[in-house]
Amino acid sequence: MHLATVEAIRHASQGQVLALAVSYSLRYDKNSYQLTPTQNLGLWKSIVLPHFLQNLRYIHSDTDIKKMQTSLNLSMARVLHVYGDHTGLLADTGIPPLQLTRYVHLAQLHFRLNITRPDTLPALLFKRLNSSLPLPNLHTSTLDYHIRYATHAFKVDLQTDPLPDMTLQPTKNRERAFRNKMRKTMITLWSGQLYNDVCTHALRSPGRAASYIRIAHTDLQRLDLFKPAHFLRIPHNQLPLLRLRTQATNYIPTHLHLSNTDRYIPYAERYCLLCLPLQMAGDETHTLLHCPHFSPRTQPAIDTLMLNLRQFDLWAWATYTFFSWIFFLGLVLADRSPFPPLESNSILPPVTAVLITPKGAEPPGSRRIGVIGALVLILPSETV
Ligand SMILES: [Zn+2]
Repeated sequence: MHLATVEAIRHASQGQVLALAVSYSLRYDKNSYQLTPTQNLGLWKSIVLPHFLQNLRYIHSDTDIKKMQTSLNLSMARVLHVYGDHTGLLADTGIPPLQLTRYVHLAQLHFRLNITRPDTLPALLFKRLNSSLPLPNLHTSTLDYHIRYATHAFKVDLQTDPLPDMTLQPTKNRERAFRNKMRKTMITLWSGQLYNDVCTHALRSPGRAASYIRIAHTDLQRLDLFKPAHFLRIPHNQLPLLRLRTQATNYIPTHLHLSNTDRYIPYAERYCLLCLPLQMAGDETHTLLHCPHFSPRTQPAIDTLMLNLRQFDLWAWATYTFFSWIFFLGLVLADRSPFPPLESNSILPPVTAVLITPKGAEPPGSRRIGVIGALVLILPSETV
């Protein structure tokens, strides 16, 4: 492993300990409650993430990048306390895969060395040391090879200025504009990667990642994938909803990949425990909507939601897809863990659903997205 990788992982784990300590101390501060995922994410982004990104452009081995990605995934899961599907966690929090970030950094380096500051010492050295061989003839360990590979992936022409209109602008502005342009390309690549991965896997066997994509489908179409998903920008039920979406709950059977004896259970065999001996796949749709044993618990919430949709003159409940229903119900039910035992007579506390900021004059398409984003539930105070 490259020394830079080892150091990055070491510093990041120290940062993670610090982030956890700050989060813990704030939690037990008299004036604060437990930090929300957004607050923890902010801490993590400022303390841990920079260590992974700092020298990313100089790390050329795919194995090293994979190791760093694994370490990043684990670190984020620990700080957020969400141990679900990593693809989902990265997409919901707006942290792109390191491989793509590395391409952006390399393209930026090319822009700086060849276009904006070609007369500096590093640029002159870079030009002198790197011959103008075609890409297949370059050795894969050279920085030049990786820069060319990245610019090829991002379709940047090496010879011409990609921003000819900005030639007279200050260098700082040009570099920022170029970075933003690269980030747009990166969003296209990233969302393509998310769907491709899932489609390839879903053909072979369904899994937690595919399930995440189905639930988060609307959110993944947001223009800026670098921003956290919409529900992380409203103040209620962030943690339970994040757990539900990223397949990290302990009351939906398909989210539990290990049995009591720590044996891996294939996704298709994670049956609903309440419906046994009938072998029903215990996914979100079954558990929350169809399970004869569990779904009655969701009915009061559905009734409240239907009433609210009518009151605000929004689309009727039946017009939403299963996955939007799950989204709505997830807001209500995500707090009900661990899974309530069947024989207990526990009744769900009364739940009030309110819709905030419904924008009446929007076209139907965006209205639907608006509703999904704007639905907030006020849970009884002891459960929040
Ligand atoms: Zn069931």
